[in-house]
Parts: sequence; C-alpha cells; structure tokens
Amino acid sequence: MIYMLASNNPKKLEEMKRILLPLGIDVTTPKLAGFEVGEIEETGETFEENAEIKAAAVCKITGVPSIADDSGLMVDALNGRPGVYSARYGGEEKTYEQKINMLLLEMMNSGSQNREAHFVCAICCMYPDGHKISVKGTSDGTIGYAPRGSGGFGYDPIFFTDGNKTFAELSDTQKDAVSHRGRALRLLVEKLREESQNRNK
Ligand code: IMP
Repeated sequence: MIYMLASNNPKKLEEMKRILLPLGIDVTTPKLAGFEVGEIEETGETFEENAEIKAAAVCKITGVPSIADDSGLMVDALNGRPGVYSARYGGEEKTYEQKINMLLLEMMNSGSQNREAHFVCAICCMYPDGHKISVKGTSDGTIGYAPRGSGGFGYDPIFFTDGNKTFAELSDTQKDAVSHRGRALRLLVEKLREESQNRNK
C-alpha cells in the first residue's frame, strides 16, 4: 500500500521517508503523484486537530490513504509557545535564524530560568472511508543560549536533547531514535501493522 504524505516541508518529508521506508511503508507526495493540493489552512488549535485537517484534505483530493504530521516546539517559560505556531512564529517570511533569535530573546525577557522545552509531533493517517489512526510523539529537552550544529532543520540548533548535544549536532539516525517524529512514526507503523493483521484474521 502506498500512502500520500501531506507535507510541503522538504526537511520534514525527508525525515518521514527516512524513517518510514525501512519499516516497509512506501510514501509519495501529492505533487509527485500529479495532484494539485494548494495551501491547506491549519485552523486547528492543537497539533492533533491540524494533523487531521491536513490528512483529511489530502485524502479527499487524492482518494488515497494520507498521512499528515503537525509538529512544533513548546517552551515551558513561554507557556507552551510557539507550539502550533512554530512554523509561523514571528511571521512565515522570517528565516529560522531570525525565529531562533526571537525565541532566545523572548525567553530572556520572560525572566524565567526554566529552559525546559518539548518537541511534539501529532500524526494522522486518514483513509478514504473516514477511518483514521492518530498517534503522537514527544521529545523532552532544554533550550540552549546560542545555536549549535548544522544538521536537521527549524529549531534543531537550540534544542538540547541530553544536555550535551543539540538535535542539529546529532546524525540523522541519532535524531530519529529520540525525536518526536521518530517516536510518532514508529507508533504509527505499529498501529498500521496491528490493523492489517486484524484485517487478515
Ligand atoms: P508544521 O508544518 O505546521 O507542522 O510546522 C512544524 C514547525 O515546527 C516546523 O516548521 C519547525 O519550525 C518546527 N519543528 C517541527 N519539528 C521540528 C524538528 O524536528 N526540528 C526543528 N523544528 C521542528
């Protein structure tokens, strides 16, 4: 079975393919398959709602089971922000260097010493008959005082996973083993396998 991946973020897509393909899940994107999807408005207030909105929209257009991820960074000292607005934090036109600097400044101005933060990834797999599978993965860490490392994407250079290295300093395999997306995708694959075993009983 081939699934559609509802994402325009090439880095996210790369991670999802990297994790799913060795687990036997083949994925493509609507664009590669020749479908015109356009911009899907993320109107939900939670990661779960946005993942479902994206998966349902792509599934409706393509008629193929569709997987969507909605993810972001929740910073304790900022009461969970930027959260679902992580991609739009400070305006979509801002570079990640600018977003990171804004976040570090906001944390400094918050007056809090708390550096704890959590990456969250909600994934929804939507089937044409309306059946859906939803999973969530989180990765806990701390926010550094300056960016470090050149791997990954987004807020990776300021997210310390073990107090020692940022996500941007890990190899792909090391990040996938502990990342919110890696955890959520492995859970999804488990659920997909369970469902297919139950169908074949
Ligand atoms: P979405 O496309 O609305 O789900 O936006 C997710 C945003 O959250 C990304 O654009 C990044 O800003 C941030 N994000 C999610 N996952 C990661 C990650 O693994 N590393 C760094 N930033 C991430």
